Amino acid sequence: MFLPIVKYGDPILHQVCEPITLFDHELEKLSKNMVETMYAAPGYGLAAPQVGLLKRLIVIDVSVGEKEESLIVVANPELINAEGDQFEEEGCLSIPSFTARVHRPYRVIVSGQDIHGKEKVFEGEGVLSRVFAHEIDHLNGVLFIDHLGAIKRDIIKRKIRKKVRAGEW
Ligand SMILES: [Zn+2]
Repeated sequence: MFLPIVKYGDPILHQVCEPITLFDHELEKLSKNMVETMYAAPGYGLAAPQVGLLKRLIVIDVSVGEKEESLIVVANPELINAEGDQFEEEGCLSIPSFTARVHRPYRVIVSGQDIHGKEKVFEGEGVLSRVFAHEIDHLNGVLFIDHLGAIKRDIIKRKIRKKVRAGEW
């Protein structure tokens, strides 16, 4: 089932999400729906607040459905190590049609739990590292535009307001 994606302007995107404590059938269903929604968008990743839920759950697939083994679903992800730097163009399904270059770690180690509550550790390099950092940010109410300088951020915000007024958002 596709879930509607929350767009910039919704206060839920700026809130800190709650840890997941119940690893039940509902959570499994939610993760499947998030994966479907991410593939349909299409995007490299999706965080629960983007579908209107304040839960610490992210789904990532940098192959966008091309390789089954690259699908990652993490509950309560935590960045436990970050190394290096990359400065690449980045977008967000909640801020469609806008991109900007953002500094991200080149390599990350993330701990968390799988959909059944089992503890897991993930490593990400390059694009995967960037997506991990971006999605974990979402769980803390941080968007990629929050990493930009005030001028760049304000230009995007102004363009969004214009789209809102034009009924294009
Ligand atoms: Zn995003």
